[in-house]
Amino acid sequence: MLSFEDEVYVEPAAPKLALVAEAKLVSTAANQPSISGRVNASDKRMINGQTDVNQLVPFKYHWAWDKYLAGCANHWMPQEVSMSRDIAQWKDSTALTDDERLIVKRNLGFFTTADSLAANNIVLGTYRHITAPECRQYLLRQGFEEAIHTHAYQYIVESLGLDESEVFNAYQEVASIKAKDDFLIPFINILTDPDFKTGTPEADQQLLRSLIVFACIMEGLFFYVGFVQILALGRQNKMQGAAEQYQYILRDESMHCNFGIDVINTIKLENPHLWTMQFREEIKGLIQHGVELEYQYAEATMPRGVLGLNATMFKEYLRFIANRRCTQIGLDVLYPGATNPFPWMSEMMDLKKEKNFFETRVTEYQTGGALSWD
Ligand code: FE
Repeated sequence: MLSFEDEVYVEPAAPKLALVAEAKLVSTAANQPSISGRVNASDKRMINGQTDVNQLVPFKYHWAWDKYLAGCANHWMPQEVSMSRDIAQWKDSTALTDDERLIVKRNLGFFTTADSLAANNIVLGTYRHITAPECRQYLLRQGFEEAIHTHAYQYIVESLGLDESEVFNAYQEVASIKAKDDFLIPFINILTDPDFKTGTPEADQQLLRSLIVFACIMEGLFFYVGFVQILALGRQNKMQGAAEQYQYILRDESMHCNFGIDVINTIKLENPHLWTMQFREEIKGLIQHGVELEYQYAEATMPRGVLGLNATMFKEYLRFIANRRCTQIGLDVLYPGATNPFPWMSEMMDLKKEKNFFETRVTEYQTGGALSWD
């Protein structure tokens, strides 16, 4: 029987680019040829790296590979979740209040385009500037997850028969949503600008600033009023199909946020000159601005108390989350003493605790072995 090594071992073929490869051949003391161009893990860098980005291994950033595997293990698709009860509730004028309907519409208004912005940021921006192949591998997975999220919102909009044009244009037409996106888009545009290149302290700070805005403010703060609102509906047996999808999205997004924070902290570690006092003060100001914008969104989407929630509770919650983001990237907290008014949210993120979770969805995916090529 073949051992694992026998199965995977392949005699190296003669290099196709013989001249180039030969030029890189050097002799070691033992007269065994080694290739000087081969990647050493210790030479890899998160940004401005000089190693070959096509060589995933040897791993340096094991945490990124682990997150890639975890992201794949969490795979889900929107159409696995039944929307039939949600549709019946949406049609029933007594099942949901006007305030609850406003929450659903505003949520979709923000999220339908937010995850497209996130996808553009990853695929057209961030990916180019990150030179660690393990992180690029995760970013590819993240990009697909953003597409799944946009698919989920589209699926909910279509299922409920909402006015698609109204929902998909909300980021241009609804003030509290537009204000959040107007804040974000310049930071995304920096990274997607074809002329933007890292390599100077100023450019590297621009990249770091945009990464912090994206991970800590967009994915790490601007999503959370919406998540709490829809999950609070689900906890009261309302719009449970939508709530279940939001629960999967929350799990994905919390990993995106944590991955982004790991990237940010690695860039800081490898480039300590970027983390100046002035830069830190600027970041604190941006996070404070983000808290204000998200609080305005909370007020606009909840003109009155609804579902046992009110805008004031969100002020405390957003301060609590902002403190956490500050701590995660090594800043002092902005709002000392802020507490979490929604402790049940952490339960929502840990889906393993939801005992009925997997009973509601199809878990078998078509794998390579099951595909028919007829
Ligand atoms: Fe995301």
